[in-house]
Amino acid sequence: MADLVLINGSVWTVNPAQPWAEALAVDGDRILRVGRTTEIRKLAGKKTRVIDLKGALVLPGFIDSHTHFLEGGFSLSSIQLRDVFSREQFVKRIAEKAQGLQKGEWILHGNWDHEQFSPPELPRKEWIDGVSPQNPVCVSRYDEHIALANSLALEIGGITKETKSPEGGEIQKDPETGEPTGILRDAAMDLVMRHVPQPSLKENLEAAETALGHAREIGVTSLNDMADGSSFAASLEVYQELLKEDNLTARINLYVPIDQIDIVERLGLKTAFGNDWLSIGGLKGFADGGLGASTAYFFEPYTDNPSNFGLLAPQMFPEGIMEKRVLEADGAGLQVAIHAIGDRANSIMLDIFEKTAAQNGKRDRRWRIEHAQHLRPEDIGRFAGLGVIASVQPFHAIDDGRWAEVKIGKERCRTTYAFKSFIDSGAKLALGSDWPVAPLDPLMGIYAAVTRQTTDGKNPDGWFPEQKIPLEEAIKGFTLNGAYAQFSEKDKGSLEAGKLADLVVLDQNLFNIAPEKIRDARVTLTIAGGRIVYDRLERTD
Ligand SMILES: [Zn+2]
Repeated sequence: MADLVLINGSVWTVNPAQPWAEALAVDGDRILRVGRTTEIRKLAGKKTRVIDLKGALVLPGFIDSHTHFLEGGFSLSSIQLRDVFSREQFVKRIAEKAQGLQKGEWILHGNWDHEQFSPPELPRKEWIDGVSPQNPVCVSRYDEHIALANSLALEIGGITKETKSPEGGEIQKDPETGEPTGILRDAAMDLVMRHVPQPSLKENLEAAETALGHAREIGVTSLNDMADGSSFAASLEVYQELLKEDNLTARINLYVPIDQIDIVERLGLKTAFGNDWLSIGGLKGFADGGLGASTAYFFEPYTDNPSNFGLLAPQMFPEGIMEKRVLEADGAGLQVAIHAIGDRANSIMLDIFEKTAAQNGKRDRRWRIEHAQHLRPEDIGRFAGLGVIASVQPFHAIDDGRWAEVKIGKERCRTTYAFKSFIDSGAKLALGSDWPVAPLDPLMGIYAAVTRQTTDGKNPDGWFPEQKIPLEEAIKGFTLNGAYAQFSEKDKGSLEAGKLADLVVLDQNLFNIAPEKIRDARVTLTIAGGRIVYDRLERTD
């Protein structure tokens, strides 16, 4: 007999052998059977909970292939600058935050976007120095590639007029005075951020619990955490703690920064070590910066700055180190996931993968390129050829689509966020959010992939509409392909007998509504491992 039975639903299984069903039965943490209401009802005994879905759409639980999960938790409780549209508002928010803090407490995160200020201009330390004299400020742009530091934070970081920009970063200086403006790009942010005190275990636990609560409400039952830099060890500590207490409500697959490969190798860790709830995915590295900060690395210069080609990430230096690490990781049975945004960074990584495959031979390795944002047309097909997964975030397309053409011109935008081209070429597309850079909500991601309507409302038919993908593919990207990208497609990603009982129920049938309405749909029920972890309707049946 089943523990839980869901009947009278519209179940989209993402299993090509049985795409639609009406009902399913759950036994323990696994799916017992998927089929018609009449046959599934027979599996209900006296103690079985039976939920009548009244026709509602059921999908496999969402898998987010790219998050910074703990940081997302912190961002929910820190200063919010994402909806700031002017200098005045920006200053006001910093002032309000500073008033509520003790002397010396940091103001971090923020997720501002100067492209939406009127007029669009980068903030400067002078804006905020007056309202934050006792609190160091280092608030980041939403893409995490630019931060604004106030004078106190610059002082703590030892940054003066004389300080040179570090490799892979830039300390912006005023062209007239030579003074730092407060704007720090990529590696330059570390000069300040390394002085921020590490959060305690208790603070990390609170952040993780906040993040998990948010994930439950939007149906994320599995996620990949690209815990970068020093946050990796803290993340692993917190997740172990939650696992021990049986408090994980989303399955977490954690990636270790590639520059810590020695530790991983010494421990003998291999990809997918762990259990259904907590696992080690492999190694995550960076090849370049980001488009918003003009640090994504291109073959041709930026259209709005002919002397700038972008920057390779610090992990690419000294030259050859990335290739060496990828080769070593591959030999040790570790999956590699590399952030590459500009077309040249992507091309370099594909070259490295090609060489590694030639040297180490054929194997099921499932390399991933994170973001795979701008590609030369001739490089798109190489993903499928090498079996490299394109781990992409559809929300970035509708967000960056507002201003990407100004930075790199129309021609390069044709193969930007080229989701349809990837699918047509046979590459696997794993979808994610990059939360807190973008919203965690997978329905927002599906909406973005299907419509490509930019967030400013200026592209109602879609930004480069030929790259829109069908709803079925978008759902697959957030379910089965996400499972594949972490070597767990035998256990999850579709609704089939024997797989983990991770699923969501929605308040609207995505297949019957206009694509632009998808973002208004809501998850009403989230089940992870057979357990109801969120019920918006507080069902009593
Ligand atoms: Zn990211």
